[in-house]
Amino acid sequence: MSNVPEIFGSMVFNDTVMKERLPKETYKALKKTREQGKPLNPQIADAVANAMKNWALEKGATHFTHWFQPMTGITAEKHDSFISPTENGKVMMEFSGKELIKGEPDASSFPSGGLRATFEARGYTAWDPTSDAFIKDGSLCIPTAFCSYGGEALDKKTPLLRSMEAIDKQAMRILKLFGNTTARRVITTVGPEQEYFLIDKAMYEKRKDLVYTGRTLFGAKPPKGQELEDHYFGVIKPRVSAYMKDLDEELWKLGILAKTKHNEVAPSQHELAPIFTSSNVATDHNQLTMEIMKKVATKHGLTCLLHEKPFAGINGSGKHNNWSISTDTGVNLLEPGDSPRENAQFLLFLAAIIQAVDEHQDLLRISVASAGNDHRLGANEAPPAIVSMFVGEELEDVLESIENETAYAQKDKSFMKIGVDVLPLFQRDTTDRNRTSPFAFTGNKFEFRMLGSTVSIACPNMILNTIIADTLCGFADQLEKSKDFTATLNDLVRGTIKDHKRIIFNGNNYSPEWVVEAEKRGLLNLHSTAEAMPYYIKDENVALFEKYHVLTRTEVYSRYEIQLENYCKQIHIEALTMVDMIKKDILPATCSYMKDLSREALNKKQMCSEINCEMEESLLKKLSSLTAELYKKMETLEASVVDEKAFADILEEAKYYRNTVFAGMESTRETADAIESLVGEKYWPYPTYGDLLFSVI
Ligand code: ADP
Ligand code: MG
Repeated sequence: MSNVPEIFGSMVFNDTVMKERLPKETYKALKKTREQGKPLNPQIADAVANAMKNWALEKGATHFTHWFQPMTGITAEKHDSFISPTENGKVMMEFSGKELIKGEPDASSFPSGGLRATFEARGYTAWDPTSDAFIKDGSLCIPTAFCSYGGEALDKKTPLLRSMEAIDKQAMRILKLFGNTTARRVITTVGPEQEYFLIDKAMYEKRKDLVYTGRTLFGAKPPKGQELEDHYFGVIKPRVSAYMKDLDEELWKLGILAKTKHNEVAPSQHELAPIFTSSNVATDHNQLTMEIMKKVATKHGLTCLLHEKPFAGINGSGKHNNWSISTDTGVNLLEPGDSPRENAQFLLFLAAIIQAVDEHQDLLRISVASAGNDHRLGANEAPPAIVSMFVGEELEDVLESIENETAYAQKDKSFMKIGVDVLPLFQRDTTDRNRTSPFAFTGNKFEFRMLGSTVSIACPNMILNTIIADTLCGFADQLEKSKDFTATLNDLVRGTIKDHKRIIFNGNNYSPEWVVEAEKRGLLNLHSTAEAMPYYIKDENVALFEKYHVLTRTEVYSRYEIQLENYCKQIHIEALTMVDMIKKDILPATCSYMKDLSREALNKKQMCSEINCEMEESLLKKLSSLTAELYKKMETLEASVVDEKAFADILEEAKYYRNTVFAGMESTRETADAIESLVGEKYWPYPTYGDLLFSVI
C-alpha cells in the first residue's frame, strides 16, 4: 500500500494545490467565491483555468470535461481535449476561463420531463466552485450544475445547491437571535453509508436479468441464505479484502474520505462509509464512489451490484444518509451543548426538524421513491414506507417533560425542572440505537435510513434542507417579532412538541403493530412510488419549493414526470427481460431435462416393463404442469407489456405498471422458481442463488 497521506487527494485540484499554484490575489478571490458563493470574475477564471490545466497536464491528463448529474441519477461527462492547433501544424494545450466556467452540451437526450422543447436543445453546465475539480481516466473533471437555456434545472445538483442556500439563510437568522456573531454561514453535512454486493463477474455475465436490470428476476431460494447471520461484521474474505484495499486507494486519490468498511447482513454484501462533508461535496463523492466501486470490481474479476434488491429473500442494499447542520466555524448545531443557551438552541433546531419531518412525510417518502426501493421499504429489512422519527428514550423523556412542564428525573435521581433553559446532561454517545427507524437521532446527527443503495443523495438532501429551512423560517419570524425572546422560545418548543409528537416513534418499525398504530396517528403509509408521487405536485409542496427558490412549479412537474417515467421504464425492461429469459432459456432448459427424464423412463421400460418409473413420471407430471403454467403466465405478461396502452397520464401508467405488470412478474417468477427447484443443475441455464451468493472467497 502506498503512503496514504501522500496519495490522498493527489488527483484533486484542492485548496492546497490552489494556494501553491495560483497568484496570491487570484487565490484569495477564488477562496472568497468558494466560501461565500460570490461570483467569479472572468480574469480570475482565466488564471484559475490556466493553473488547473498545467496541473492536469503534469498528472498526464489530455482532456477536460464538465462533470454533471442529470436526472438519469448517474453522472454525465463529455470530454474535450486540451488541444488547439498552431500555425506550424502542431498543437498546443489550451484551456480558458470561459471553458472552465461554462459548457454547452447538447441537452436534448437527457430527461427533462417536458421542460425542454425540442427546438431548444441546448443546455449549459456551470462550474460549482465549492466542489473541487479532479482527474479521472486522464480527464480533468469539473463539477458543474446543468441547466436549460431558460435557466431551469436539468440536474440534481442545482436544486441541492439552492436548498443549501435556503437553509443557510434561515438558520443564520436563528443563530443571530441567539447572539452568534462569529458564524458567517451554516452548512449542511452528510455522511452516506453505502451498501453493495460483490459477485463473481463470470457468473454475473451469465445472467441476463443482472446485466439488463441489475437484479435477479428469477432464483430459487438456496439451502442457505442469511439465516445464520454469520456474515455481518464477519472476517473479510481475501478476494473481497483485496478489492476493498484497491477501492480505498482509488477513492483516497480523489480526496474521498473512505473510512469504514465491513461485511453486511446478507452473504456477499458489504458497506463503505466515508467521513462526512458538506452536502454538495458528499453528493459528488457518493456518485464517484458508486462509479469507482463498479470499476475496481471489474479489475478484480468481480461485479459490484448497487441495485436496492438484487436477490429476493435476501436483504437488499440501502444507503444511510447521516445528516447534520453546522456553522462555518465548525459548531455542530445538533450537538446538545453544555450551557443553557446552547441547549435552548439545540432544542429549537430539534423542534424545527420534528415539525419538518411531520409536516413533510410525503416529500421525504418521495425523495427515496423508485421501482428498486419499493422492494425494500416495509419488507422487514428496511424501514417501512411510513416516515417517523426516533429520538431515543432519554430525549423523549426530556421532550415530554418540556411539553407537560413537569420535573425530569435523571438517572442519578436528581430532579430538575426543565424547559428550554435547562437540559439535563445528555448522553451524547447514546448506546440506545434504533436500527428500524427511518429517521433516527444518533447523538449529534440524524440518520435518514430509507434511501436505496442506487439513489443519488441529492434529492433526499434537497428535500431535507428545504423542509427544515421552512420550519426555521417560521420560528425566526416569530422570534424576531417577539418582545420576550425566552418566553416565545419556550412556547415555540413546547407548542411544536405538542403539535408534532405523533411523528416520534421509538419502538420497532418493522412490527405489524406499528402499521396499525401509525394509521391511528394519521401518518402516511405510501407503499409504492406510484402512490407517493402525486404528493409531489400538491399545491402546498409546489409553493414550498417556490418560496425558497429551490424548484419552480415547472421544475417540480418535470421532476414528477421523470421520476414516474423512470419507474415505468424500469418495470417495462424487467418484464421484457423476464419474457426473454423464459422463452430463450428457461423453457428450453426444462424441456431438455424433461426429454432426458422421459428417455430414461422409456429405456427402463424397454429393459423391463415392470421396472419402477415413479420418480420420472412424478417429476415429468409436475414439470409439465408447471411449464404449461409458466408459458401461460409469460404470455399474459408479454401481452400486458407489449399492448400499446394509451395512457394520457403518466401517473395512470405508473399505477398500471405497478398493479398489472409488476404483479404479473411476481406471479410468473413464482412458477419459474418452482421449476428451478426441480430441474437438474447441469440443465439450468443460469448460476443459482447459491452460486451467486457464496462463490467469492
Ligand atoms: P453506523 O454505526 O450508523 O453504521 P458509521 O460509522 O458506519 O455508523 O457511519 C456514520 C456516518 O455518519 C459516517 O459517514 C460519519 O462520517 C457520519 N457522520 C458523523 N457525524 C456527522 C455529522 N455531523 N454530519 C453528517 N454526517 C456525520
Ligand atoms: Mg455503518
